[in-house]
Amino acid sequence: MKRVYNFNPGPATLPLDVLKEVQAEFLDFDETGMSIVEISHRSQPYEKVHNQAKADILELMGLGDDYEVLFIQGGASLQFAMIPMNFATKDKKGSYALSGIFSSNAYKEAENLGVGKIAASTKDENFCRVPRQDELKIDADAAYFHICFNNTIYGTEYHYIPETGGVPLFADMSSNMLSRPVDFKKFSFIYAGVQKNLGPAGVVIVVAKKSLIEKSLETLPTMLRYDTFYKKNSLYNTPPAFSIYVVGKVARWIKNSGGLPVMAQRNFRKAKILYDVIDESDGFYKGHAHKDSRSLMNVTFRLPNEDLEKKFVAEAAENNINGVKGHRLVGGMRASIYNAMPIEGVEVLAEFMKKFQRKNKG
Ligand SMILES: *Cc1c(COP(=O)(O)O)cnc(C)c1O
Repeated sequence: MKRVYNFNPGPATLPLDVLKEVQAEFLDFDETGMSIVEISHRSQPYEKVHNQAKADILELMGLGDDYEVLFIQGGASLQFAMIPMNFATKDKKGSYALSGIFSSNAYKEAENLGVGKIAASTKDENFCRVPRQDELKIDADAAYFHICFNNTIYGTEYHYIPETGGVPLFADMSSNMLSRPVDFKKFSFIYAGVQKNLGPAGVVIVVAKKSLIEKSLETLPTMLRYDTFYKKNSLYNTPPAFSIYVVGKVARWIKNSGGLPVMAQRNFRKAKILYDVIDESDGFYKGHAHKDSRSLMNVTFRLPNEDLEKKFVAEAAENNINGVKGHRLVGGMRASIYNAMPIEGVEVLAEFMKKFQRKNKG
């Protein structure tokens, strides 16, 4: 069997221990004689998985029972639309900080509905940093203030939690959810497509204050109302059971590894290894992100020219390093180093980068 170091941005690498566990129980789940993908979502073995995943996620986040975990399909992209549909009006608009493609896409959905307003944007700087607190113009009567906590494509991340003056804080945490301790209580509504840091594609985790989601607008379609998911424990209709099952295992793996503090230690260490190579390369590697906005999850950098970038990708693959080509909008390279990427993988990439520079500095 061959396994490479997988630096893909999403779907992305998952803990090998989790994959092995899934494999081992795939044909006979919990002595049912059936696979997890063959049993009813109303059955007791499934409900146990479902409820345990929810409980572990809340525990990892340090949140109490004033918050609820929902499992929703449609990707983070559907949340971009559901949020303004459920919470914003023409009088109480949703306020958005634009720090990359995904936050801009989120804003676009609100704008289409006539309920969006821009609080800040770093587009003029090619999204090389997240907005600073002093740049945020949040209306006091906004329905919510929305940020993208980690910008997967540009490789930038918030290292502070915005003060909103009482406006509920909403965050897309798709690519850094459960990667480090955060004061999650400061957020009213958090969502994450799991295929970056937490599991296989197919489900979005929403963690929201119950007071926000216990009653939704009656005029909305059933499946676009948060209270549909809240009232039925995310079992109104068939949930993406396999994705939720794997997410539950990943949450358990995080807990057994020592929780978010240990994830953070490893993630800081991994990110530092790569940023040090960039900073010590005499300009051969140029980081995209401003230093104070650097992401711990997605490390973006360019090489002196596109030919070298192509060569880098090709030679990396020969060294078992996969998925380092950057997003077409930024160009260059991107190494996604989520929770499941072992330190060893990052060390292999760092050594490869140094060797590649020595051979090609011209
Ligand atoms: C990948 C990603 C999305 C889009 O997720 P889908 O589940 O594909 O809709 C949104 N936000 C962030 C931060 C992402 O990384």
